[in-house]
Amino acid sequence: MRVLVVEDDRGIAAGLAAHLARAGHAVDCTGSIAEGWRALVGEPYDVVLLDLGLPDGDGGTLLRRLRDMPAGRLPDPATPVLIMTARDQVASRIAGLDLGADDYLTKPFDPDELAARMRALRRRTTGRARATLRYGELEIDPAARTVLRAGVPVELAAREFSVLLALIEARPRVLSRTQIEAQLYNWDGGLESNAIEVHVHRLRRKLGESLIRTVRGVGYYVPAEPAP
Ligand code: CA
Repeated sequence: MRVLVVEDDRGIAAGLAAHLARAGHAVDCTGSIAEGWRALVGEPYDVVLLDLGLPDGDGGTLLRRLRDMPAGRLPDPATPVLIMTARDQVASRIAGLDLGADDYLTKPFDPDELAARMRALRRRTTGRARATLRYGELEIDPAARTVLRAGVPVELAAREFSVLLALIEARPRVLSRTQIEAQLYNWDGGLESNAIEVHVHRLRRKLGESLIRTVRGVGYYVPAEPAP
């Protein structure tokens, strides 16, 4: 997932970013409403982790602005937002939920709880109730980041898994190389020009040639239904 962190406490932000990166997410950190907004205008995010006490105002301001945007362009008003509040900020937590936050966490929180809540948000936004995804003979577990093919574990590199998950969740939509890259690399991420092709090539080798289709000059997609 591509994650935006809006948090002015550098220690908390760095800890979050490190934990999320280890879990295979691409994380961008910002420290104010203004910076967070610039990021949202420039990039589609799968989830925003929003602190409420920010140097240029209440994080709820950013949330309200986001939810008030017209659909169909960036920033996407439907972007899931999880607010991070201090234990004594009950009133602002309620206000945040009323402004359209999808969930909240009370600081300090366990990073594993955050990861589980992010997965739950993802399930809700992609409209699925089950924790694992099934596609043909594949069973994909986003929590454990494992793939079974006909019941047999398949070893995937972290980025191969992220490419697979992005394409399966988006199916049958075509994702451009840029859209896939945005899921894998944050602003600082080093990126070789053919990285996505390499990941796709390896996924096909491991999971079958017919799984990921190429639309020349556009991108890649996974068909709505698996090949028989
Ligand atoms: Ca703060």
